[in-house]
Amino acid sequence: MNWINKIKKLGESIKQNINKKFPTRSERESSAWTSCCKGPLLKKELEENLFVCPHCNKHHRISPKQRFDLLGFSNYEILKTPIPKDDPLGWIDTKSYKDRLKDARKKTNQDCAVVIAKGNLRGIDITIGATNFNFIGGSSGAAETEAIVYGVQHAIDNKTPFVFFPCGGGQRMFESPIALAGMTKTTLAINELKKNNLPYLVCFTDPTAGGITASFAMLGDIQFSEPGALIAFAGRRVVQATVKEELPPDFQTAEFLLKHGFVDRIVERKNLASEIKLLLSLLLKKNSEVNSENNEQTSDINIQTREAS
Ligand SMILES: [Zn+2]
Repeated sequence: MNWINKIKKLGESIKQNINKKFPTRSERESSAWTSCCKGPLLKKELEENLFVCPHCNKHHRISPKQRFDLLGFSNYEILKTPIPKDDPLGWIDTKSYKDRLKDARKKTNQDCAVVIAKGNLRGIDITIGATNFNFIGGSSGAAETEAIVYGVQHAIDNKTPFVFFPCGGGQRMFESPIALAGMTKTTLAINELKKNNLPYLVCFTDPTAGGITASFAMLGDIQFSEPGALIAFAGRRVVQATVKEELPPDFQTAEFLLKHGFVDRIVERKNLASEIKLLLSLLLKKNSEVNSENNEQTSDINIQTREAS
């Protein structure tokens, strides 16, 4: 047995023991324990280390609110984003979509998977957004699309950069074509942001896949990722069956994407605030130069027009 399988087996047995001790999901969620590479881990210990395992550096999933808190804003405010009509297709499978939404809202205390906020990060006013994986796997439907578009419009209206932390499995199947249309809508929104010369920074978190990767999340001026994040369009098995080749073990990880140019930089959670501040300072300086050049060109044109008349 190679070392990867040994670690995999160890992880599975730890998970099984914890599941045995806390058989229901609500018991596991309310217990003081979670698990990682070395076995049971106190949630408090994990939280004190920014929800990063002190032994293996695994960046555990966190909610948008936890992320905003950890970034250390001097102040931030969560914005109320539009909520379109629930369940437009009347979807029912093993459970109704309405019930899934009800459970997700209760579990996360959010109206939809995406949360948008405005705040001041180390002296820079920014509009920021993040997805909560615990809200129906972070999937994207009409409400999530509207939240992202609202965030972009807020950034344009207030002339702030837009920073987004995506995750999620892709477009939400319970809203099929409506969810798919969100890919175009969010892409067009980001295009408007760029026309206004405002920086757009993306930081992938684990896991980001499907239509989320194939639309707004891949359009950042700079693409960050947390270490070890899974970033994909189609799943590994689908790709393997299509290309009929053995894929490397780190395929679709942030580290693999860094090597192949889809990710610009892998940033540990503890360094995110300082890296975001540094990059935005540089991009804002560059953008203000572009804006002043545009203004100069416009005033040249005005002068020439006045002279001509
Ligand atoms: Zn660990």
